Amino acid sequence: VARSEVLEYFETQASPSDIGGLDALKAWLDQRHSAFSDEARKFGLPLPRGVLLIGPQGTGKSLTAKAIAHSWSMPLLRLDVGRLFAGLVGASEAKTRETIRYAESMSPCVLWIDEIDKGFGGDARSDGGTSQRVLANLLTWMAEKKSAVFVVATANGIERMPGELLRKGRFDEIFLLDLPSPQERFKILELHIKQRRPNLNIPIEIVVDRTQGFSGAELEQTVIEAMHYAFSERRDLLETDLILAATQLIPLSKTAKEQLDF
Ligand code: ATP
Repeated sequence: VARSEVLEYFETQASPSDIGGLDALKAWLDQRHSAFSDEARKFGLPLPRGVLLIGPQGTGKSLTAKAIAHSWSMPLLRLDVGRLFAGLVGASEAKTRETIRYAESMSPCVLWIDEIDKGFGGDARSDGGTSQRVLANLLTWMAEKKSAVFVVATANGIERMPGELLRKGRFDEIFLLDLPSPQERFKILELHIKQRRPNLNIPIEIVVDRTQGFSGAELEQTVIEAMHYAFSERRDLLETDLILAATQLIPLSKTAKEQLDF
């Protein structure tokens, strides 16, 4: 089967241990991973269908999709829903069929449908019903599929989410990822500091207190900013005062992002 023009093959080394917090999601994924085994087939378990991850930007949805594929040793295929709709009338349906055929030919694999809310949440009348038909095709395939294609769909919010996607029997489970709790912020900061300075032991509780409302991505950005400070001041280590100084920068970039709407 020819490689689909709307599918992108993703190389990744991410693993669940790179994800701070989201313990319920990680435990659930472990359970579903074991459901791919021969033993599970003999036991009569159905093959897992997929999971829908909904949450604000930077809360680890893409990271989770990557960690699933890498830790389950499956190829990761990312579907660009926007590209499904580019082109001539009827082309979208053909591309959808091609996508499904390609994913099945790669199974076992992870099919990551990124920004599913943006792709299918538009006004169906404005595109002559194309997005409705494509969504219906995808959902029928998901409901009937017998192959080991695990679908990970990610979305920023439920406002624009077509109701069909939320109905039972499409995904095995839907997870709402929130901004991290204080305990989760602690783990995320610790992870990003340890990734860069494995032997560093600094108190981070105070950073946790000053980062309420930060996403995982913003916490990572804070640690990187602190490293820039350390580097320019010729200081060896990431110290707490540098990280605290860096936390001041992030709310600014956050406001800019909101104003620019990206
Ligand atoms: P978007 O909706 O913008 O695509 P997302 O939820 O997919 O956002 P990611 O792309 O997964 O967010 O996050 C970006 C980066 O932020 C990750 O690669 C990771 O480095 C860091 N990050 C986010 N959440 C976490 C987390 N829970 N633990 C550790 N790192 C995290």
